Amino acid sequence: MSTSPTSPTARKTIQATELMGRIMREYFYDLNDAAVTGRRKVAWCTSVGPAELLRALGFAVYFPENHGAMLGSTRQSTELIPEANAAGYSPDICSYLTADIGAWLKQRTPLSKAYPGIERVPRPDVLVYNTNQCRDVQDWFGWYARELGVPALGISSPKNVNDVTEGLVEDVARQIEALVAPLEAIVGARLDIDRLRETVALSRRCSEIWRDVLETAMHSPAPLTFFDGTIHMGPAVCLRGTQQALDYYAVLLAELRQRVADGVGAVQGERLRLYWEGMPVWGRLRQHSEMFAALRTAVVASTYCSSWIFPAFDDADPFRSMAQAYLELFIVRAEPYKERYLADMLQRFKVDGIIFHDAKTCPYNSNNRYGLPQRLQASTGVPSLVLSGDLNDLRCVSDEQTKINAEAFVEQLLECA
Ligand code: SF4
Repeated sequence: MSTSPTSPTARKTIQATELMGRIMREYFYDLNDAAVTGRRKVAWCTSVGPAELLRALGFAVYFPENHGAMLGSTRQSTELIPEANAAGYSPDICSYLTADIGAWLKQRTPLSKAYPGIERVPRPDVLVYNTNQCRDVQDWFGWYARELGVPALGISSPKNVNDVTEGLVEDVARQIEALVAPLEAIVGARLDIDRLRETVALSRRCSEIWRDVLETAMHSPAPLTFFDGTIHMGPAVCLRGTQQALDYYAVLLAELRQRVADGVGAVQGERLRLYWEGMPVWGRLRQHSEMFAALRTAVVASTYCSSWIFPAFDDADPFRSMAQAYLELFIVRAEPYKERYLADMLQRFKVDGIIFHDAKTCPYNSNNRYGLPQRLQASTGVPSLVLSGDLNDLRCVSDEQTKINAEAFVEQLLECA
C-alpha cells in the first residue's frame, strides 16, 4: 500500500467486520421473526432508553435511530426527508426523525436490500423513549403512536445536568419503575428481577469491553479510527445487554490489540491525531475516512462512539444504576462538564486538533454553538475546526468546503507541530 499523503487506499480493513455482519443479520432476522410471527412482542426504544428493562421483560428490541443511520449511510435519507416535511415536520428538526418517517410513508427500508425476506421494519407493540438526548425522540415516537395505534411510554429526563445528584437519579429511577406495570401488561409476563440484574450486568460488561476497544486508539499509531468505530458500534447500540455483543467485542478487541502489538495503524503513516465531536455524516463516512487517511491523519476518538460507555450499570441496584447511566450521558450534561470531559479525552488520546461537526438538524450534538471550542482551546491549547454539515440531510453538506477546510486545518496543525 502506498504511503503517499494523497493515497486513497491508506486505510486498513478490520477482519472482524464480517463477524459483525453475521451478528447484525441474526439480530434483524430475529426482530423480523418476532414481528411477523407474533411469537415475541416488539418494543421500539431510543438509543439510551431503558433497553435493559425491555430485554429483561422478553421484548425484541428495535432502535429507530439505528434505522435512521442506515437511511443516512445508504444515502436514501435526503430524498425521504421531504416526505416528512410534507406531513408537517420541519426540515430543521432531527433528520433521523424526518428520514425515518419519510421512509415509513414511502414504505421503504434499507433492511429489505440488506436482508432478503425482510419487507418492512418490525411493527412495534410499544414505543419506549427517553428524552435524555432530545425532545425530538418523543415527537418521533408520538407520530408512530398515532400512525399505528400503539402506546408510547417514556422517561422525561432532566437536561443540562452538571452533577448527577441523588435527587435526579431518584426521579429517573422512579420513572423507569413506573414503566414496569404497563410493559408487563403488554408483554403478558411479570418482570423477573434476576433477569433484569443479569441484563444490566451484561450491559455493563458490553460497555467495558467497548471502552477497551475504543481505548486501543490511545496507542500511536491508532489501530482504529472514529469512522471504524461508527460501524463497529452496531452491537453496542442494538445488542447491549446480550451475550452476542460481548462475544463480538472480544474478537474485535483481540484483533485491535494484535495491531497494537504489531505497530499497525488504521491509517498508514499516521502523522496527526484528531478528535471528532458531534454526529457522523452518515452519507459521507467513507469519503471522510478516505479523506483523512489520505492526509495521513487519524481521527482517533469521538464523543459519539464513547457515548455507549456506561460505567454506572450495577446489577446490585438495577433501577437506580440504569437511571444513573442514562443521566451520566454526555448529551445530558451542562457545558462545564462537557468542557472537562473533552479536555480529558484530548489529553488521554494525545490529540493534535478537534473537529466540531455542526449538524444542522441536531443542536443537541452540535457543541460548537456556545463558545466551547474557544474555551477548550484556551484551556488545553488544542486548536479546533468547525465543519458545517448534517447527520443525514446531505443538502446541508458541502463536500468541497469540507475538503478545503479539513486540508487547511491539517496543514495548520502540521505547521504548529
Ligand atoms: S440527539 Fe440529535 S440525532 Fe439523536 S434523535 Fe435527537 S435530534 Fe436526532
